[in-house]
Amino acid sequence: MQTEIRTNPYLQTRYLFTPQPQARVYYTEPEPKPIIPEEAKPLVTFGILQALTAVLQKASKWCGEKLMQGKEFTTPGNVEKAASDMLSKHNLSDKINIEYVSDGNINQIAQRYRPHDSGFFKLLAPVARGENAFYADGLKLAVAPDSKPSLILHELGHAINAHSGKFLKFLQTFKTKLPNLTPSLFLLNAIIPKKENGEKTFIEKYAGLIGFAGFLPTIIEEGLASFRGINAASKLKKTVDKTINLKPLKRNYFFAWMTYLIAGLVFGAGVHLNFIDNRKN
Ligand SMILES: [Zn+2]
Repeated sequence: MQTEIRTNPYLQTRYLFTPQPQARVYYTEPEPKPIIPEEAKPLVTFGILQALTAVLQKASKWCGEKLMQGKEFTTPGNVEKAASDMLSKHNLSDKINIEYVSDGNINQIAQRYRPHDSGFFKLLAPVARGENAFYADGLKLAVAPDSKPSLILHELGHAINAHSGKFLKFLQTFKTKLPNLTPSLFLLNAIIPKKENGEKTFIEKYAGLIGFAGFLPTIIEEGLASFRGINAASKLKKTVDKTINLKPLKRNYFFAWMTYLIAGLVFGAGVHLNFIDNRKN
């Protein structure tokens, strides 16, 4: 029986349709639904996942743009106050350095922490442009754009996570192990016993979910870093200036966190796509 692609006029979506044998006059059971033939299933999943990835990447870009347009919730002086409060509360004042990077001081900062390291300068360049912020545990350094100092509170959240016991540190460094996830799954899948009827293994079935689960520690740790930052800002509002509006900060942090959530979904879809690819060969 021929399988063809039909368009659902109501949803404007396409699906694979296999015509069923001519309907008998008297049906005693529910009319059979259009089915997707077994051999076309991986292709359908492949297409869906690829489309999903494209949509998610657009969504991530949109979140990034929203974050770029985000406003500061208070003055740079107030941010500095909240930042030093965060560090002293966790006895990290002497351990962590903070820098607000601009075009004017980028060379100086690069030289101070990693002299003659062009890679480090390249990391700082987007920070100077107001497009990024980061915490480098090796250097005990948190940086934010001079034009968007409020991002530092999130980065200090990472610094505190890095100094709050092994578990949080593990969550933080887990993302560095993610490139090994797909090869490890392949390896594991090759050595586990296969079912005789050719049914998918657990790994083949749930590769996408396993991939997303691998990203979860990062999503959680990012959320926690923002939570610490927002807490410090609320404390600032209570103790220094009751007129502070925390909404712009929460909004910025929300969009930043969404990019991580989306990255997790894209990663999961990518891991799954690898396994579909593998089954076709
Ligand atoms: Zn972060």
